[in-house]
Amino acid sequence: MQMLLIVLLIIFLVVLLFKSWLYSLRKKFTKQFEQNINGRERMVNKGNMIKCSACSTYFPAAETVEKKIEGKQLHFCSENCLKDYTKK
Ligand SMILES: [Zn+2]
Repeated sequence: MQMLLIVLLIIFLVVLLFKSWLYSLRKKFTKQFEQNINGRERMVNKGNMIKCSACSTYFPAAETVEKKIEGKQLHFCSENCLKDYTKK
């Protein structure tokens, strides 16, 4: 009976440790993710350049062709790229 209690206690501790480990891991990942987002936004603001969703080249934000596809606002360098993207 005492043995069972000890085993239960160990399982409880392992679960607790695992949960705190998962939490710290998740915290680390969200921090990295936020840093990536901030970095990308800073880059876009700095040079005022946007990446084309079709051909992946950077172009001035003023020349963007915007299109909302599947709920996402996408930016293209030209009408041709927009056509290429929607064809896929
Ligand atoms: Zn393009």
